[in-house]
Amino acid sequence: LAWSPEHLDACEWLEARMRQEHLAVTRDAASNIIGRLGPTAGADRPAVLVGSHLDTVPEGGAYDGALGVLAGLCVARALSGDPARLVHPLWVAAFMDEEGVRFDTSFFGSRAFAGEHLPPLDRTDDAGTSLAEAIRAGGRDTSRLTEADEIERVLAYLELHIEQGPILAESGTSLGIVTDIVGRRVFSVRLSGEANHAGTTPRSHRRDALRGAATVTTRLHDAFDRLSDGTVNVAGIAAEPGAMNVIPGVAELDVEIRASTDRTLERAVRILREIVEMVALGGDLLPQVKLVDSAEPVSFDNYLVELLERTATSNGASWTHMTSGAGHDALVMAHHVPAGMLMVPSRNGVSHSPSEFTGIAECRLGTQVLTDAVRELTANGFGGHG
Ligand SMILES: [Zn+2]
Repeated sequence: LAWSPEHLDACEWLEARMRQEHLAVTRDAASNIIGRLGPTAGADRPAVLVGSHLDTVPEGGAYDGALGVLAGLCVARALSGDPARLVHPLWVAAFMDEEGVRFDTSFFGSRAFAGEHLPPLDRTDDAGTSLAEAIRAGGRDTSRLTEADEIERVLAYLELHIEQGPILAESGTSLGIVTDIVGRRVFSVRLSGEANHAGTTPRSHRRDALRGAATVTTRLHDAFDRLSDGTVNVAGIAAEPGAMNVIPGVAELDVEIRASTDRTLERAVRILREIVEMVALGGDLLPQVKLVDSAEPVSFDNYLVELLERTATSNGASWTHMTSGAGHDALVMAHHVPAGMLMVPSRNGVSHSPSEFTGIAECRLGTQVLTDAVRELTANGFGGHG
């Protein structure tokens, strides 16, 4: 978990390995580790940034995040042997707290690096430790968080990551070149009926909020089964008063919707609102749909997508375009700088589990394609055409 002793050990290990590869290493106030390899002249030129994260989730696997950081280290090793070809600096980043499990602060490090608004530091974890205390325990100064913002100095961002889904493994494809990351909307849906005696209230008089919530859930899933772009997750239903002999008077559903474009996301939200209204009407319930969290869909940079296609093809790799259903540091970066993302297969599509696995040959191929793309960018910026 982010800022845990184990994570901080991994950070120290990484810094030592970066120094071995002749990178200049800094750790900013957000605890992002950046290793920098500069050109002999023109160190002030914007950098090509390669990164991912070292933190994980409880019972997580070894590949989610860590693979991308280590791939960055391999890129640095490959490029440090030929510094004359570096026109733009290469930076390798391990962003802090991508997963956000401990303080509910996803992408904390990459958001700090990008100069985005950060969550309040008084948030606490399950043990009562505040985010500010965790940052200070890791030896960083919370008053200098704004200094982590270096996005203006970045030319392009590239990230290698495991797929965390079954598409590549099932189709036997070596690489996914990500074109979009889905946007999401999280809603709290409240249905209010009337708590009444469960035995004596006739069917025609029952205003059962939980029955309405169950109907909303199945209708939502039925509707989304027919959509070509969009997923829904009803993560939980809470009903009141929860007594055996009382009809539930209030039910609240936690609903998350994801889709890959503004248009399809809007359509999905419209479907949710329509279903809630129809069910409320039919069950004599009062509906409330409240947006509680959102992230916009993002498209990756066309040139970088083409560059990754080109380097994948020249390495003889089979590849396909993909939409990422999960958020990544690349999502934060793509809102600020041209970004690209490469995925390697996850065995059986399993992730956030100790059995997460990607074969060494697949890791190596992904890293080679990434290295070739970075070599091109550091030598020619966006002016190269292979
Ligand atoms: Zn990850």
